Amino acid sequence: MSISALYLHIPFCHAKCAYCDFDSRGLRGSALERALADYVPRLIDRIDAFGCAGALRFVDTVYIGGGTPTVLGWALADIVARVRSWCDPVEVTCEANPESFDGSLADALACAGVTRISLGVQSLDDTELVGIGRLHTSARALEALRCARDAGFDVSCDLMCGLPGQTRASWRETLQRLIAERPCHVSVYPLTLEEGTPLARRAEREPALVPSEDFQADCMEESERQLVCAGFHRYEVASYAQPGHACRHNLAYWTGRGYLGIGRSSAGMVDRACADRLAGLFPGLAGRLEAEPDAARVRFVQRDDAAERFDFECLTEREAVAEDLMLGMRLSRGVAAVDLEHATHLCGSHAVDEAVRASRDLGLARWVDEDGGARCLAPTERGWLLGNELYGIFWGLADPS
Ligand code: SF4
Repeated sequence: MSISALYLHIPFCHAKCAYCDFDSRGLRGSALERALADYVPRLIDRIDAFGCAGALRFVDTVYIGGGTPTVLGWALADIVARVRSWCDPVEVTCEANPESFDGSLADALACAGVTRISLGVQSLDDTELVGIGRLHTSARALEALRCARDAGFDVSCDLMCGLPGQTRASWRETLQRLIAERPCHVSVYPLTLEEGTPLARRAEREPALVPSEDFQADCMEESERQLVCAGFHRYEVASYAQPGHACRHNLAYWTGRGYLGIGRSSAGMVDRACADRLAGLFPGLAGRLEAEPDAARVRFVQRDDAAERFDFECLTEREAVAEDLMLGMRLSRGVAAVDLEHATHLCGSHAVDEAVRASRDLGLARWVDEDGGARCLAPTERGWLLGNELYGIFWGLADPS
């Protein structure tokens, strides 16, 4: 397995949103400048270290996420150029938030080789945006979207449902207004209240702020109705794309391809051979691999700015296969019958047959014939709504008992 996808994490934003528990610090002005002056050179050194080790040679997608990468301004273009000095990716996505994205930055990023902008819109209702502590207005979000489109990017927009004060009518209107702007990709996420966030604390005092699962399910159904009607294809539980505009980078995560994360809180996944080759770049990995001779796949998360501390998770071959099936069930095409057949060699045909039967009996999955004629077990609408149940069935195949 070679590394085909590269993720870079920029853990800074101009301010923290009320619902956010991601690894990002809200900084501005000189405090932000100091933090970036410390962080960015380390990130670039790490890019170069992997480049020198030959690990970036086959990277074909890059995703710069956060946080808010666009708080870097034009320095972001330098990072993209540095990555491109080691590889020739076909897709380079940069996450952006409206308050730190404008036409001149869009042009600079396009010149540096960014191909895709993923814009955090969340809602086009100003009261809802205030309620979750976003810094931008709906007008600013639309302006940013148009700048990205005018610069020639593939534009993806994130929306959230279940926001404080959101109604069916306001959700419908957010969708309609966004679709009218012709993004080529839309992701829809239900709001979750993460412990310790300002919104979760408010919801303890105001139970009405706790998102209703039924309302969120209705919103997801409305999204599908409107987006499909506008020519989008739902290719993953939360992702809709116009033909040819699915996010290749995210598909790499869901189809068992090797990926590398650089930057604090970034994650990666490689096979054993790749982990052995790159062990010198991950303090603690060599010892961990020695202690885990059965590890077929290694996941890692960088825990600090300096890339000195990592968490590792080793998966056996059986666990890796179960993980691939579980992740495959996020996709509209599901998992191919041949992949299920392959899984029987490691997990046993009885266990795999049982998993397939359970997912079908519960109405979570069904057999479909793909365009190319391949038979696939694909999630149903119910399977997507009850994703954890469906994923649990296939992850259960990891357990040999
Ligand atoms: S912009 Fe994104 S990463 Fe930054 S605080 Fe808001 S939700 Fe978190």
